[in-house]
Amino acid sequence: MSTFTEPEERQELRKAVFALASKYGHTYIAEKAREGGKVTELWADMGKHGFLGVNIAEEYGGGGGGIGDLAAVLEEAAAAGAPMLMMVVSQAICGSVIGRFGTEEQKKRWLPGIADGSYTMAFAITEADAGSNSHNITTTATRDGDGWVLKGSKTYISGVDEAEGILVVGRAADAKTGKLKPCLFVVPTDAPGLEKQVIEMTFDAPEKQFTLFFDDVRLPGDALVGDEDAGLLQLFAGLNPERIMGAAYSNGMSRFALAKAVDYAKTRSVWKDQPIGAHQGIAHPLAKVKIELEQAKLLQQKAAALYDAGDDMGAGEFANMAKYAAGEVACNSTDVAVHTHGGSGLTTELGLANMLVAARLGRIAPVSREMILNFVAMHSLGLPKSY
Ligand SMILES: Cc1cc2nc3c(=O)[nH]c(=O)nc-3n(C[C@H](O)[C@H](O)[C@H](O)COP(=O)(O)OP(=O)(O)OC[C@H]3O[C@@H](n4cnc5c(N)ncnc54)[C@H](O)[C@@H]3O)c2cc1C
Repeated sequence: MSTFTEPEERQELRKAVFALASKYGHTYIAEKAREGGKVTELWADMGKHGFLGVNIAEEYGGGGGGIGDLAAVLEEAAAAGAPMLMMVVSQAICGSVIGRFGTEEQKKRWLPGIADGSYTMAFAITEADAGSNSHNITTTATRDGDGWVLKGSKTYISGVDEAEGILVVGRAADAKTGKLKPCLFVVPTDAPGLEKQVIEMTFDAPEKQFTLFFDDVRLPGDALVGDEDAGLLQLFAGLNPERIMGAAYSNGMSRFALAKAVDYAKTRSVWKDQPIGAHQGIAHPLAKVKIELEQAKLLQQKAAALYDAGDDMGAGEFANMAKYAAGEVACNSTDVAVHTHGGSGLTTELGLANMLVAARLGRIAPVSREMILNFVAMHSLGLPKSY
């Protein structure tokens, strides 16, 4: 990373995180995924060193930095082969939403644990019948005395089995109009009436996805985060960090794949003395990935800088673009990396073939590349709304 956009402090943070994550690396993650384990030791180590909570305010046990710092942590961990998906939801989305809109009591209750990793919060917005059209969600919270009753379902929710709570995007009835408006609730993962079903996925990762059923789950009044009437605004405060972190996850993965491929291209030799990297058929695709990756990293930094400067609108545009660019590079870099390795590119031991599938996640979640193109066409270019 250049000094052009990143302060020395962040560069030092990057080095420290990369060094720590490298002690675990891809082998650790692959083993955990194979055995159905979790990244418990890595997570605790990262928390102990203060890396998980870099974006949380100091008064709540965090490092007092911004989303740019948190994205740097995730990118470096992923580049070292040890990504932590739950950082995207727990520290980035939930930490940002609660930090900006939670009551003092809620901040004191949740942020210190989120910062040091001892309390993990999942995030649930996706519903089977709404999909990309999150305006169509139907999970509904109804007032019940001082509290709420939550009913509905969510799908593809990551890491519920390793979380203590879930920040759920539901709807509540507006007392004035009777219309349903989006609201955010924290639901304990052991709440009576909450059922979880694991979804079998094709790629191996320690973090699992779940379908959730909320069958009249009772919540106290203070489970509602933030203002009942400012739901969407609050939600977007969490979604921009999510997209920036999605970009960081993909960019880190691309760096890991590219480094492996370059190393192999330099050392594998099957024609006389020349390594395969001497052939342009191998070198050019790698060079192309390098250029695309640098572009994607700049977008990631710009989006984070806008968010940290308090420009939510500007951050929205660039967080989308950054997530798009990074998702594309991750698909390209993993493909080129597998191909550079020839047959060994598909071995389980190398782990790159699994990343071919995992990289696709960057094109689908948290918002698909088509929805980003829709957004850019409409908001950046002023074209008519197409959906
Ligand atoms: C591994 C994984 C982890 C996830 N973790 C979480 C999580 O923790 N929490 C959570 O809430 N969600 C999570 N998700 C869900 C994820 O955010 C959704 O999968 C994503 O938003 C897309 O929604 P969908 O799958 O319903 O696709 P759909 O909305 O059904 O879309 C299907 C296809 O149609 C395209 N499409 C849809 N509408 C349009 C349009 N108007 N124009 C052009 N193309 C369109 C899409 O781009 C996509 O290619 C996760 C998903 C995965 C795969």
